[in-house]
Amino acid sequence: MLNLQDVKKDYVTSSETVQALRGVSISFRSREFVSILGPSGCGKTTLLNIIGGLDHYTSGEMSISGRSTRSYTDRDWDVYRNHRVGFIFQSYNLIPHQTVLGNVELALTIAGISKDERIERAKRALDRVGLSDQYYKRPNQLSGGQCQRVAIARALVNDPEILLADEPTGALDTTTSVQIMDLIKEISGERLVIMVTHNPELAEQYSSRIVRLRDGKVIEDTNPYSEEEERRECELEEEAKRAAEAEEVKGEKTKKPKKEKAKMSVFTAFMLSARNLLSKKGRTAMVGIAGSIGIIGIAMVLAFSAGIKGYVASMQDDMLSGNPIKITENAYDLTALTGMMNTTDKIDPNSKIPGNVYVSSLINYVAKMLDTADKVAVENTITAEYIDYLKAMPSEYYQAMMFGYGINMDHSIYVDLKIDENDPGHKISATAIMAMYSDMLKTTDFKDYAQYITQLAPTVSQLPNNNNYILTQYDLVGTGSRMPNAANEVVIVLNSDDELSDLLLAKFGFYNQDQFMEIVNKATNENGSYNKDIYKDYFSYEELLEQTLLWYPNNEIFDQTTNQFTGKTAYTYNAYADNFEAEGYELKVVGILTPKDSVNFGSLSSGIYYTEAFVNHVLTENKDSAIFEHINAIDESNTSQMALMNYYISYSFEYSYTHSEITKHTCTSTIGPSVSTADMISQMMGSSSTGIDHKDMKENMIRSLGGNDLANSVKIYPVTFDDKDLVTDYLDKWNADGDLVYGDVTVKDRDEVTYTDTLELVINVINTMIDIISYALIAFTSISLVVSTVMIGIITYVSVVERIKEIGVIRSLGGRKRDVSNLFIAETFILGLLSGLIGVGFTYLASVIVNIILEPLIGYERIAALPVSNAIFLVILSISLTLISGLMPASSAAKKDPVVALRTE
Ligand code: ADP
Ligand code: MG
Repeated sequence: MLNLQDVKKDYVTSSETVQALRGVSISFRSREFVSILGPSGCGKTTLLNIIGGLDHYTSGEMSISGRSTRSYTDRDWDVYRNHRVGFIFQSYNLIPHQTVLGNVELALTIAGISKDERIERAKRALDRVGLSDQYYKRPNQLSGGQCQRVAIARALVNDPEILLADEPTGALDTTTSVQIMDLIKEISGERLVIMVTHNPELAEQYSSRIVRLRDGKVIEDTNPYSEEEERRECELEEEAKRAAEAEEVKGEKTKKPKKEKAKMSVFTAFMLSARNLLSKKGRTAMVGIAGSIGIIGIAMVLAFSAGIKGYVASMQDDMLSGNPIKITENAYDLTALTGMMNTTDKIDPNSKIPGNVYVSSLINYVAKMLDTADKVAVENTITAEYIDYLKAMPSEYYQAMMFGYGINMDHSIYVDLKIDENDPGHKISATAIMAMYSDMLKTTDFKDYAQYITQLAPTVSQLPNNNNYILTQYDLVGTGSRMPNAANEVVIVLNSDDELSDLLLAKFGFYNQDQFMEIVNKATNENGSYNKDIYKDYFSYEELLEQTLLWYPNNEIFDQTTNQFTGKTAYTYNAYADNFEAEGYELKVVGILTPKDSVNFGSLSSGIYYTEAFVNHVLTENKDSAIFEHINAIDESNTSQMALMNYYISYSFEYSYTHSEITKHTCTSTIGPSVSTADMISQMMGSSSTGIDHKDMKENMIRSLGGNDLANSVKIYPVTFDDKDLVTDYLDKWNADGDLVYGDVTVKDRDEVTYTDTLELVINVINTMIDIISYALIAFTSISLVVSTVMIGIITYVSVVERIKEIGVIRSLGGRKRDVSNLFIAETFILGLLSGLIGVGFTYLASVIVNIILEPLIGYERIAALPVSNAIFLVILSISLTLISGLMPASSAAKKDPVVALRTE
């Protein structure tokens, strides 16, 4: 059965070589009870370990069932240990965190046997050693004798051919020793039992053969196994085998031969680790929490990042109404600005020769800047075809489409201005009122700022042509308040605090001069003294709804005269309408609009709004104004004539300005140029000198007087932010190559038209910023992730050291190195999963709390919202990192020498 031939074993240590076995030759029968006796240190354990395949001999030969073990692979040894050998140790070597049943099951677990069978067989083995009622106790709840019984049951559970016992009674009292010996004796009837002991009485009483060892050599064998006997036994075995084969041929396939495998499934490794972790709940929880800190950090950053993006997305539709897609003659292609950052050519510092002063070119800088500015400023040619194309856009793409004609209504809108409350009032144009106030302010403490007020004062503007759309954002307030439907109806729009600015109220005659000056007094008097009786800081809805504006055509407001110095034809602008022959066109305020609470960004800023119908009325009425002929007649090449006309749309050229005796607060007014924001930008961009030629000046002049019915600006209000693409795609089609066909129209040659989608740009910038900030924060929090990963690595390593005995047991039961490393990998996997789940779970919980706290502050209920995909990613990340951290300890555990591991106390 088992044959050793001149087996030697040397232990090589750094200081010396110990010859533990010096040539042992011995054979064992298939069924016998052998006791090995000898003094301490003579090599008994070493011999047993070699027989059990735990340790490997240095030289000699050992054969098992006639097969030499020289060619045995690790795998063969594992299978041998698992299926054919059972070990019993002096110190029991039970795994403390497993139940009695679990300990016995272990050998079967390693063999990869199914759970039901495992339990059944383990219970049978335990019943056999008399522990039927102790299945679910832990080893520390048992007596020494009971522990050894468990160890015997574990050794027996695989029904091994060889049972190896190393001083099984060494730690037991005499009575218990006898019980254990009886048990071993009983077992020995069916197999080979080799027991090491230094108790000769026990050996003599129980065993059938005694082998004495001294200094690594057999010095006595009471019942040696002769070669002849061995041959006979072999023959018998052969016969038995043949008989079995014959039976199989008959078709009565009885029990399959024992599966020669020792393979623990990964799932089993998992369950073993889980049980180990569960047995140390406190520590596992601590490790899980510590490991989750890094995950929490990153998860919180991701939660906020996603939440803020969600918030931005939720505002998109809201913001859309205030940021329609715009098409203007002078557009800004802001995407070109991004190129501006890296425009200057720098000399590569590495190519500089030391000791020289290099030249940085400002010329180059300026050239690059201008180049960029040119690219940013785009000139669009808006043609009638283009306008037709826009009008053909499917109406379900947008809420409103608004055409602008560059008309300056302030010149032609007149209101009743009163000097004080007793004044019956005079009709004067809005432009003139602002000019007058500006001049008047120059006589007050406010004089330094006077010039700005004309620019700051809001003007009348056009309402998007979809009343229902406006009513989704605004509420009507005031009795009888309604949306304007006709050309002669206007509405007043309040800001989100239900206010109107003083300048707007002044410009359109709601304030009389006294009241306006009192506002200035209040603002500029250092001691704060002002006349409270005159000062007016609120208006009733009725007062606002009473107001009527008057509009006059060009032919009424401009009079042809002769310039007294040049003798040429000139025009006089009548700012004072009291003596106009025609009745003005009455614009009635029919409604007051205030933004709904839910709306943060409405489509309208506060001011006075007229309808599209009114614009059409103005265009029709002014179509044949006499003044256009005059402007058109100006010779563009005549610079001195052109010089009189600056490109700001002003009336200072060849017009004189009349306004009569409305003087209480003294002033002498001339109407100066008004500058639009766009003009200021283009001035700053440096295009004012090059961008606009004389021809444009004339055209702009005519436009501002309502003389051009071809729109030069368009605002399109898409239905939703997501639907905005429908509009931009439609606009992009105009710029695509090839003929453009829509409806029954074909447009061949087209100039590219750049549209401005401010919101897209803003949202992109915001999202990019959120991303950048998130990445930076993640980079910081990653440090804690690294720390927790390293920590889990260390804890796993500590666990390896702690469980070194268990590793030895698993290996002695035939567990592969892989099984051991799987065990620790499974453990780190579970820890990683736990950390990840704690981290993500905590984050979700914290998010709920954060959202509850922040909701009233920001009016958004999901500012921290970790997307599920990110949560899954983080759990996987946590598992991956801890797995990596567990790899090293796991492989070090697998490499542990089982003999050394078992000897460790
Ligand atoms: P016994 O079991 O008979 O008391 P052992 O087989 O344990 O003796 O040891 C035999 C000899 O080998 C002893 O001198 C012991 O010190 C030595 N020995 C055992 N294991 C090792 C080892 N791993 N490294 C070095 N020497 C060892
Ligand atoms: Mg020993």
